[in-house]
Amino acid sequence: MLNINEIREDFPILNKRVYDKQLVYLDNAATTQKPRQVVEKIENGYYNVNANVHRGVHFLSQEATEAHEEARRTVQHFLHARSSNEIIFTRGTTEAINLVASSFTEGCMQAGDEVIISTMEHHSNIVPWQLEAARKGIAIKVIPINDRGELDMEAYRALFSERTRLVSVTHVSNVLGTINPVKEIIAEAHSREVPVLIDGAQSVPHIAVDVQDLDADFYTFSAHKIYGPTGMGVLYGKEAWLDRLPPYQGGGEMIATVTFEKTVFNELPYKFEAGTPDYIGSTALAEALDYVSAIGIDKIAAYEHELLTYATQRLKEIDGMRLFGEAEQKSSVISFLVGDIHHYDMGMLLDRLGIAVRTGHHCAQPLMQRFGIEGTVRASFAFYNTKEEIDALAEGIERVRKMF
Ligand code: PLP
Repeated sequence: MLNINEIREDFPILNKRVYDKQLVYLDNAATTQKPRQVVEKIENGYYNVNANVHRGVHFLSQEATEAHEEARRTVQHFLHARSSNEIIFTRGTTEAINLVASSFTEGCMQAGDEVIISTMEHHSNIVPWQLEAARKGIAIKVIPINDRGELDMEAYRALFSERTRLVSVTHVSNVLGTINPVKEIIAEAHSREVPVLIDGAQSVPHIAVDVQDLDADFYTFSAHKIYGPTGMGVLYGKEAWLDRLPPYQGGGEMIATVTFEKTVFNELPYKFEAGTPDYIGSTALAEALDYVSAIGIDKIAAYEHELLTYATQRLKEIDGMRLFGEAEQKSSVISFLVGDIHHYDMGMLLDRLGIAVRTGHHCAQPLMQRFGIEGTVRASFAFYNTKEEIDALAEGIERVRKMF
């Protein structure tokens, strides 16, 4: 059992009042709140350990470098990666996917080659491939989903052709909450010698991820969705793949030697980290991962599942409730519409009650088109949420429904 009251004390923002009401923060899929430990790590970093990394002989630079590299090892262990060389720091999931899209297409794809994505992808796993389609003429194929919001695995298998070069799918849908069978997806692709990129933005904060067990070739996540700082994220890549791919950006850090005629690139992971890295952000991310590990990711998953089950049951009691995403395997996200109340009106009125939910297309417009809607209201839970907060949500929705 988690001691939620004790945990909540680490998150001062949860005590905030909005419109003179107690804040109920249910927008965790967009970003999570930060525990004191993470904020203090940032403060201490700037006050006591700030110097540019990797280039200095002086004490402070070496201390900052060691903290940054220790953070990389923390990420490595959190994801169960084989080597810290396989951990690339990025600005977030978006940049990590853009990196793979750009470098993989450049290094491993020709015009007419194909990448497989799915209907439930976030725009950040659609648009980078479209940019590559325009730049290099690659083709995008899309795995369809059923009405419950599960991938059609039969259709997935049928999408492979001899031109398939990569599969890039999300582990957990940010709209439907569906936990995709990524191990099976990867095994299917590997049986055809096709590598797989997994977007872990919505999985890493909620369920245990072991990249070696999954046998993922690339895996990404964002720090801010796992109680860490904004502007920081991770690309995991198998060393063999990262070695093969050309760099994404050029500049300092990513080079071994430079002449005007030729540059020799640095070894991993630095080949993919041009410029001064966010060495304060990396240590804050590591602090967030330590925080999550101290609670226990399996305990978090179990508790959040309890919240999801409770919320699903409470929301289903409401007249006119339509839930989007009823997959067998689901993470703590609920998307819904009530009667013909516009999602935006519902969100605004809930906000007036102090309840923060997200409304709109959730950066997944093709998924909205699949369901023939413009948007949904989305409540998403973290381990600091409570059943009382879900009651407040259900009562709030009921109040709004009666107003209409
Ligand atoms: N992928 C998924 C599934 C997401 O939910 C998000 C953010 O909502 C992203 C990618 C993009 O993450 P970021 O904006 O942190 O780069």
